[in-house]
Amino acid sequence: MAKRVLVTGGSVAANTLAWWLLRGGFDVTVVEKAAEFREGGQSIDVRGVARSVLRRMELEEKVAAHGTGETAWTFVDEHGKVIAKFELSKLGADGPTAELEVLRGELARVLYESVHERVDYRFGDTIAAIEDDVHAAHVRFESGRSEEYDLVLVAEGVGSLTRELIFKGENEPRWMEVTMGYFTIPKGPGDSTDARWYNAPGGRSIFLRPDNKGTTRAVLTLQAPIREAPESAQEQKRLLKERFADADWEAPRVLDGLEDATDLYFDLLRQVRMKRWHKGRIALTGDAAWCATPLSGIGTTLAIVGAYVLAGELSKTHDIAQAFKCYENIMRPFVEKGQNVPKFGPRLMHPHSRLGVSFQRSALRFVSKPGIQKVLTKVAMPPADKVDLPDYQYRASS
Ligand SMILES: Cc1cc2nc3c(=O)[nH]c(=O)nc-3n(C[C@H](O)[C@H](O)[C@H](O)COP(=O)(O)OP(=O)(O)OC[C@H]3O[C@@H](n4cnc5c(N)ncnc54)[C@H](O)[C@@H]3O)c2cc1C
Repeated sequence: MAKRVLVTGGSVAANTLAWWLLRGGFDVTVVEKAAEFREGGQSIDVRGVARSVLRRMELEEKVAAHGTGETAWTFVDEHGKVIAKFELSKLGADGPTAELEVLRGELARVLYESVHERVDYRFGDTIAAIEDDVHAAHVRFESGRSEEYDLVLVAEGVGSLTRELIFKGENEPRWMEVTMGYFTIPKGPGDSTDARWYNAPGGRSIFLRPDNKGTTRAVLTLQAPIREAPESAQEQKRLLKERFADADWEAPRVLDGLEDATDLYFDLLRQVRMKRWHKGRIALTGDAAWCATPLSGIGTTLAIVGAYVLAGELSKTHDIAQAFKCYENIMRPFVEKGQNVPKFGPRLMHPHSRLGVSFQRSALRFVSKPGIQKVLTKVAMPPADKVDLPDYQYRASS
């Protein structure tokens, strides 16, 4: 049976995968490009079946203890006046604020700490080349080290280089025409447990969210077709500052915070679209396989569930090809539902003209009426339960 597994990446998908592979009795090595465990990231949602996976790992409560404390989403005008409010207490786990709303870095750390003593972690390295044959996958790393594995599982996120190495040209990305910058700023007097969203004309929004650290998490969004991300954080900051220079509301304070931020995460949103997720001894998972983008609200949920299913299928059989096939059969319909983000969604959320912003505000006032709010969230929220979670039987000793 395949025993030696190399997992690449060190975030949500990789650490969940490592946990379940250990449960299945595999020897696990994790290679992460960053020089040390990657902190950072803003609020992400763990929804539906992903919560069941965390429960099976006995980590649900631990993750919940890191909740950001967000209680509502409010939409505000340039004076900070509330236009519409969606409260967690009224909408439950179905609403835009999920019941399990945590910082990405904290979720990844809980998962990492649950396995790091039993896994061979290698930071600051990446795969340079792989060849696989009937005996093994032969891997050469950037560090110069060469090793053999029975399986290589790629969980490197949306920009995965190993995916491009193995499945060259097969990703047909779906560009969402949205650019987002996430960063942390000092807490201001108006910041509370409510997340606050402001739309400025020109397809721009400023979103401020609470965290559990006494700071505020800011997201600047531009609905614009940018294809090449500026390389350095300095250039990324410059782009955001230029584009938001004339925005109202709390823009000046947010841009001051951006100047000093050390954790800017800049993302040109695009979905990963792959016709296949495996080849020989190699398989993709998480965002590397199917990134649905933050617009879907389900990326982290898919990463946790995908890791659970991939490890579970590999634990069931000696036949790698069969395991990969079953993994894909279970995950693909779920992923397709998750990726089904209408392209007009970002445009609707980011009007360009002043008239558009004013129409959007009227629409928000209407849909936030109590009866309509509940129906709307049922229709608009991610399909986080739309998969039957298999119940894998692991040996007690594993
Ligand atoms: C620092 C960071 C901040 C984020 N912030 C947000 C956020 O605020 N909001 C949001 O919705 N989503 C955010 N995301 C994305 C979110 O984590 C994912 O969409 C989702 O959780 C799926 O996780 P994943 O493990 O598949 O991919 P990711 O979380 O993207 O993790 C991929 C990991 O692979 C590593 N890696 C990349 N290339 C290689 C390579 N060649 N070899 C080895 N390792 C490699 C990366 O350093 C990273 O640790 C963030 C991701 C990161 C890495």
